[in-house]
Amino acid sequence: MSPRKNRRAVSGRAAGNGGGPWVQETEEGPDGEWIVRAVSGAGAVKAYRCPGCDQEIPPGVGHVVAWRADDRDGEDRRHWHRPCWQARTRRAPRVRRSRDAPRY
Ligand SMILES: [Zn+2]
Repeated sequence: MSPRKNRRAVSGRAAGNGGGPWVQETEEGPDGEWIVRAVSGAGAVKAYRCPGCDQEIPPGVGHVVAWRADDRDGEDRRHWHRPCWQARTRRAPRVRRSRDAPRY
């Protein structure tokens, strides 16, 4: 009698191509333009090292990913604690090329 409608609410689709609902925006800092993407706790599935404080961002903790706007592929993106990213512009802008930071 009742036709099976496949109408599941699509919310929090963390499955799929490693994605999830996230917000991406462009931010201008003293050191140029950056693409900033917010990663939800559910979307953070592995640990990253934050270049702001050099501490680890454990899995399950919401944070931001940022990379230069002219880096279209986001090859050099970095994962930051949210407060560290925001504090970044208050420090001396200094792009470190640390070799041991995870690349994504
Ligand atoms: Zn940090």
